[in-house]
Amino acid sequence: MQQAREPFFSYANYLKQKYGQAAYRISVDAGFSCPNRGPDRSEPGCLYCDEHGARAPYQGYRDAVSGQRVIGSVQSLPQEWRLDLRNQIDSGRRFISSRYGAGLYILYFQAFSGTYAPVETLREIYDFALGCAPFRELAVSTRPDCIDRSKAQLLSSYRSEDFEVWVELGLQSANDESLNRINRGHTVSDFETAFNICRALGLKLTVHLIFGLPGEGIPEILRTIAYVAALKPEAVKIHNLHIPKGCPLYAEYLSGELNVPCADRHLQYTLQALERLPPETVIMRLTCDTPEHLLAAPKRFEQKARFLSRVREEMKFRNTWQGRLYSSAG
Ligand code: SF4
Repeated sequence: MQQAREPFFSYANYLKQKYGQAAYRISVDAGFSCPNRGPDRSEPGCLYCDEHGARAPYQGYRDAVSGQRVIGSVQSLPQEWRLDLRNQIDSGRRFISSRYGAGLYILYFQAFSGTYAPVETLREIYDFALGCAPFRELAVSTRPDCIDRSKAQLLSSYRSEDFEVWVELGLQSANDESLNRINRGHTVSDFETAFNICRALGLKLTVHLIFGLPGEGIPEILRTIAYVAALKPEAVKIHNLHIPKGCPLYAEYLSGELNVPCADRHLQYTLQALERLPPETVIMRLTCDTPEHLLAAPKRFEQKARFLSRVREEMKFRNTWQGRLYSSAG
């Protein structure tokens, strides 16, 4: 359970409770693409997706990976890719230890869809990366239409009593109309099928959500939260809608057709969501992290740490907390 003075159950707190010390994710780009971007990352995909896919800022924002450098085009991991993966892990460890000192490490396949390859290729990639450092957990971010029973079974095979495997599944919205509008390429039902497969195999689940999608306001967001709360995922990641320059939504933004939530509006969405999520669901994230130079909107959104402080302050001021309006009876 969360500590008495924390209005929501943050990921940092969860990790400290679990390990008795800080643990940090090392985020890697293994060269995956995603079914929505095609095997070489050349299709437009979700309307808010730019050429980089999601990644940790310390990984840098290299030029878009070319068609020859994505996993979809190979059956086995070439030697130079292994070196690249090892370099990413080594530099992630250096960055974390110089910034935070000692800690435990979690291997995180973050960019694009970390299960978008044949099972045997995935096994090769996961085995190799896990052998590069003494990781305490494995986390893989993917899409509902990119994980089936055989891939989930592979991920589950890495589990042990003291080694957890997390799957981060993008839902974004529980409204099919919105998923269609943003070209997600899957339905809510696809998400639920993938969620249930992973859960049945003992994988921990993080659900990704975006607040402020085109056509969505509080009613739609609360419907999504009610749907997610009923599933009781182990964790959620909440993102405010970001428009990176060059993504398909950028043109709509430039034409003035798009209304992107500012920090104050996202704060209101966030508070209402937190009150309705189960108290034991870990809150892994509350904002996006797109670097300034890539971001078209929202402009002047405050830093992540400042936003988190505001959420805490506002919840204390309102005398509310995560789960205050959650009902396990639905
Ligand atoms: S699922 Fe992720 S990587 Fe694929 S198109 Fe959507 S945002 Fe981009």
